[in-house]
Amino acid sequence: MATSSATIERDQSRRAAFVTGGSRGIGRAIAEGLAEDGFDVAIAYAGNAAAADETVAALEAAGATARAYQCDVSDSAQVDAVSKQVLSDFGSVWAVVNDAGITRDGLLMRMKDEDFDRVIDVNLRGAFHVTRAFSRSLMRQKGGRIVNMASIVGLSGNAGQANYAASKAGLVGLTKSCARELAPRGITVNAVAPGFVETDMTAKLSDAIREQYAKQIPLGRMASAQEVAAVVRFLVSDAAGYVTGEVIRVDGGMAM
Ligand code: NAP
Repeated sequence: MATSSATIERDQSRRAAFVTGGSRGIGRAIAEGLAEDGFDVAIAYAGNAAAADETVAALEAAGATARAYQCDVSDSAQVDAVSKQVLSDFGSVWAVVNDAGITRDGLLMRMKDEDFDRVIDVNLRGAFHVTRAFSRSLMRQKGGRIVNMASIVGLSGNAGQANYAASKAGLVGLTKSCARELAPRGITVNAVAPGFVETDMTAKLSDAIREQYAKQIPLGRMASAQEVAAVVRFLVSDAAGYVTGEVIRVDGGMAM
């Protein structure tokens, strides 16, 4: 498991997790949940350094060793450099959570190439870059966890989100392929598919649209980030050692 070569002074009996998008929203709730579960946590963020610093302070207050890394996951060179740095700083990483994601919504006929490409590049290629970058060390340690943040729209589609839904459907295929490829090394790969979650991403929706969505949710409300994080915490735990290639909806029953 952990080696003693970490450049950060930390208790090597604690496992470490790398959470992309860990500075805000669902990713922050995952990072905080994993810290509660005894993980040290490295988070990656795109550019909001203030949010990342705030999250690191919260993780440290919870007793974890934590560090934030600025990294655009769509850029494989940045991902490779940051993954090397994280492994060097923490000594080893047990769990990788691909949470970073963006939306650039628009109706199909008006969707620009760059809006389609950017969403695929961040949401899908980003997860591929990060998974590839950490796979060698996970394989070498013959165990670990990868969790990808999909979405129910990747399963059901959504008008106005052709780019986003395609990226999340792609993540499901990536998850299942990596699950098959990494299973012989004891590494599980799963996806979580949230419905509507209270974060900055959904705060930009109008009240009318929020109400309209709430009507489609059997449980009648949006999820908290912590309710999504709870499932990621389970998938990362030892208790989930026989679960791989799975997509777990956390959507209040919306897509059943
Ligand atoms: P959010 O509040 O907007 O936070 C997005 C996070 O991703 C931030 O930490 C952001 O960093 C980071 N990020 C964005 N682009 C990045 C890039 N190119 N490289 C690295 N990091 C990047 O989003 P959220 O609502 O928590 O969503 C998190 C994940 O859940 C996403 O994959 C999203 O698609 C998925 N999801 C969300 C919902 C929902 O209802 N909210 C539903 C289903 C699925 P900065 O802070 O630096 O910007």
